[in-house]
Amino acid sequence: MTQEKKIRSVTKKLRSIAVSDGAGVNLLRSIGTPGLLNLDPFLLLDEFRSDNPDDYIAGFPPHPHRGFETVTYMKAGRMKHEDSTGRTGQLISGGVQWMTAGSGIIHSESPEQEEGLMWGFQLWVNLPARDKMQSPGYQEFRPEEIPYVEQDGMKVNVIAGEYASTVGAVNGISTSPVYLDIQLPGHGTFTTQLPESHTAFLYPYEGEIKVSDQVIGQSELALLDKGNLVAVESMEKGAGFLLIAGKPLDEPIVRHGPFVMNTQEEIHQAIRDMQEGTLVRP
Ligand code: FE
Repeated sequence: MTQEKKIRSVTKKLRSIAVSDGAGVNLLRSIGTPGLLNLDPFLLLDEFRSDNPDDYIAGFPPHPHRGFETVTYMKAGRMKHEDSTGRTGQLISGGVQWMTAGSGIIHSESPEQEEGLMWGFQLWVNLPARDKMQSPGYQEFRPEEIPYVEQDGMKVNVIAGEYASTVGAVNGISTSPVYLDIQLPGHGTFTTQLPESHTAFLYPYEGEIKVSDQVIGQSELALLDKGNLVAVESMEKGAGFLLIAGKPLDEPIVRHGPFVMNTQEEIHQAIRDMQEGTLVRP
């Protein structure tokens, strides 16, 4: 028996909004705003993109995370990462850092450039209750380590999940995420299979895209309904967009800034651990 095909349609469109975070970084936020507090299992999506150093030079001084994962994908520029264990790394254009904060990490993220374009995305991915207090970990990839598929003028970077039998760089993540960066030429089409019940959304960062009769503009997030197929078209100018999907956790979410737990008591514990200097375990 062949599996029934269900092409996903757009159920909601949301324009990202300008916010300031860190020590004064101007960015566009879509998930994690009053219009879309979270999109289980995703908690936040930021796009930072500016060639004006005033928008990014302040960076993100040391701050904690507990209970989820932060995913940074750079499109242009250089970012330095440093955590409280002394671990440092540099993220460059095309590189990815999938950081599982788990029980706790304190880190800083700062630009390693004083001029020029700084452009990238940060996605927060929730962890299930059973994994929230796991030991922190990183999966980091240089641009040349990200698998990609190129055909008919289309390029797909497979950061996580799978596309056309090409398996993404990131693996072993609780929510079985799919994270694709797709560049389509003018009047191009992109189709892929997705796990049927995954939460999935599209985010064009260049140009506009079309899903059936719905046009999705740049920096607009389009939430898709359930189904096993995604079909996207570009307009005459071509487009670049992210397709991100993950298994919903369907658990209570209690968030307090950089801590995302299941209960209020766990949040209080995180705040106490931070105050007492025990958030990061030896
Ligand atoms: Fe952070």
